[in-house]
Amino acid sequence: MRITFHGATRQVTGSAHLLEIGSKRILLDCGLFDSERIHPESPNRHFAFDPRDLDAVIVSHAHNDHIGRLPLLIRAGYNGPIFATPATASITSVMLRDSARIQREEVRNAHIKYPHLESVEPLFELVDVEWLIERMQRIPYQTPIEVVPGVNLTFLNSGHILGSAIVQLDYREDGRPRRFVFTGDLGRRDTHLLPDPAIVKDVDVLVSESTYGSRELEPYDRLVKQLHAIVARAIRLEGKVVIPAFSLGRTQRMVYCLQELFAMHKVRPIPVFVDSPLALRLTEIHRDHPEAYTPIARELMDRDPLYFGSKHVEFCATWDDSRRLNYMRGPMIIIASSGMCEAGRIRHHLRHVVSDPDNAVVIVSYQAEGTLGRQIAEGVERIQIFDQWYDLNAAVYVLDGFSGHADRNDLGWWYEQTGGSIENAFLVHGDPEAIDALTPVLQPFVQNTVHTPELHQSYEV
Ligand SMILES: [Zn+2]
Repeated sequence: MRITFHGATRQVTGSAHLLEIGSKRILLDCGLFDSERIHPESPNRHFAFDPRDLDAVIVSHAHNDHIGRLPLLIRAGYNGPIFATPATASITSVMLRDSARIQREEVRNAHIKYPHLESVEPLFELVDVEWLIERMQRIPYQTPIEVVPGVNLTFLNSGHILGSAIVQLDYREDGRPRRFVFTGDLGRRDTHLLPDPAIVKDVDVLVSESTYGSRELEPYDRLVKQLHAIVARAIRLEGKVVIPAFSLGRTQRMVYCLQELFAMHKVRPIPVFVDSPLALRLTEIHRDHPEAYTPIARELMDRDPLYFGSKHVEFCATWDDSRRLNYMRGPMIIIASSGMCEAGRIRHHLRHVVSDPDNAVVIVSYQAEGTLGRQIAEGVERIQIFDQWYDLNAAVYVLDGFSGHADRNDLGWWYEQTGGSIENAFLVHGDPEAIDALTPVLQPFVQNTVHTPELHQSYEV
């Protein structure tokens, strides 16, 4: 088998790995690189392979860095099937429609951002997304299916977000049975909401993510205690708690955690507002998949048919719903996107809460350098929002253990469960520091030296 890494090499975006097994070509993921989507020079515009030569596409999960370029395959003439779990297929359709809508807006406003460019085109249009969705084949977990002659795909729950999968491919080479495994993104253990990542044995070739390969995150139970204290403080001070969160994954995790706190009577319930129309659409998909959750989460859902939106949780669908929150008194919790505070409704809420010390901002996800979210996490004295400066007097809490990614310990545990007979392993989807820290954790379970591929590098394994 030959494998070529066309993205997520020594970085966390643009996941795309091309497998050649015999004469068949299979693409794993087709994610967006973190760059200006509509810019003519964007690395997202071109593939280093011809999509028309592909025989199958397999998607690990529906985050944009794994699905964001799928419609471009269709534009470039790819005509074959796209395999995903049922939840991933549903979420993909919502995420990519939203992406097409945002790109249309960006193109409309491009003359402001790119005054020197004559014309700017979106990466793809809604019609490309519709074609793509038609080609998606929904394959449940643990249901082997032949994706190309002689290659069987099995999806296993990776516990990262709803629908997320470990990709297992079984095939024969020179008469020998071979097993290839791609972790996709692996989730944390013991998070109550989603199950621990599934264990895979007898792996010959492994491609593993390494996002938090250099980090050890707080255990979930300790995070819940911290959140408990933050809610109790808000009740005491009648303050507002603002949580910037991505609409997919982190929002549902925070809603779950708060509902768990309320349901277990650990703290008096206070209103929770989720201010994101995208999160509302995605949460509806979450309600459709009770089978994906742990028994603890399912028990909570059985008690509350409106789960992920009970009487304590309200979704703001319109701008008016959103603006109303600015004039309401606390205590209350507002969850809004974007997760790094770079765009979206979160900026309006921050503007109204950050100067009052009775309020709080809770950072629950990774904040890239240079973002407003990073400045808040670092506790700067003043922040700028929409050309105006505000004193940052609100309490700031950083609870990054709510991440959907396995940390160094979780990854080490998972490698150990494979049985340790891996022939070749590759680390992708991590910054160089994370990859370097994770390599010695993985190496004891691998026969050959662990590989850390560069962009477009190929290996015969
Ligand atoms: Zn992901």
